[in-house]
Amino acid sequence: MSRVYNFSAGPAVLPEEVLREAADEMLDYRGTGMSVMEMSHRSKAFEQIITEAEQDIRDLMGIPDNYKVLFLQGGASQQFAMIPMNLMKNRVADYIITGQWAKKAAKEAEKYGKVNRIASSEDKTFSYIPDCSDLPVSEDADYVYICENNTIYGTKFKKLPNTKGKTLVADVSSCFLSEPVDVAKYGVIYGGVQKNIGPAGVVIVIIREDLITEDVLPGTPTMLTYKTHADAKSLYNTPPAYGIYICGKVFKWIKSMGGLEAMKERNEKKAKVLYDFLDQSRLFKGTVVKEDRSLMNVPFITGNADLDAKFVKEAKEAGLENLKGHRTVGGMRASIYNAMPYEGVVALVEFMKKFEEENL
Ligand SMILES: *Cc1c(COP(=O)(O)O)cnc(C)c1O
Repeated sequence: MSRVYNFSAGPAVLPEEVLREAADEMLDYRGTGMSVMEMSHRSKAFEQIITEAEQDIRDLMGIPDNYKVLFLQGGASQQFAMIPMNLMKNRVADYIITGQWAKKAAKEAEKYGKVNRIASSEDKTFSYIPDCSDLPVSEDADYVYICENNTIYGTKFKKLPNTKGKTLVADVSSCFLSEPVDVAKYGVIYGGVQKNIGPAGVVIVIIREDLITEDVLPGTPTMLTYKTHADAKSLYNTPPAYGIYICGKVFKWIKSMGGLEAMKERNEKKAKVLYDFLDQSRLFKGTVVKEDRSLMNVPFITGNADLDAKFVKEAKEAGLENLKGHRTVGGMRASIYNAMPYEGVVALVEFMKKFEEENL
């Protein structure tokens, strides 16, 4: 068996320890005689899995008691609709447009009400985060929406926007559990887990209790009402049980590594190796303004599309996979999520040095 360094943006690398443990438990989960894939979601064993998973993410993020943690399906994209359906009481919301995912979320919300795009970085191909200290937040906005880490462009909000008292909703798909977070500053934090936590098929929503009501837009399906899932503790119907089980293991792995402070340190150390190299390279160039650089997704280019393609191909041959940039922007992108080991980033930089020498 040989594993590669997988720089995919998602689905993405998972901790090897977690995969090994899951493999060990595949045929017989702790004496139950069956796999977690095969067991009832109403069984004692699964009840323990989901209860512990919730408690562990609560511990990791310091989630206050007046927030619910929901394990849902439909991916992050389903939240683009679920958020307005549940939160747009005035049918007005403000969106900050920092990339494709925020753009898509805003477009979807337009089906349900008035969307004000109060800031955007599209003028410079989303290579920075706009100044959000004094935005024209709408008087009657039900919420202000951000995509906190922009997976495709490699930018991250280092400071949350000043929402002038309005509820903040954040898509954290690609920075979930990558550093400590003050949950109380948000109304809703959500993300698909396939970037930084677990297998595709689970989306985690952390939502303040006062935002969970029966007063949703007319026609909102039962399954797309937060209250349905909050009341049933994410067991209204069959949840993505195996995915939740793996997420639970990743939470325990993060705990064993020292929690979110330790994750942040580790992620900063990894990102520094790559950014430091990019800053002095004569061939490669980062595409994001320094102060807004993501710790998770690092896009870079040579400035020559043919050379970019050659790099991606030769890197793959060297065991460094999925370095091609998003199809809408080209170039390269290294996603260096929590589970990417430091050695993986060092191997990438060593390879880039060699490629630079050979191709300059
Ligand atoms: C990947 C991604 C999405 C889309 O996730 P799906 O689960 O495929 O719907 C949304 N937002 C961000 C920030 C992402 O990185």
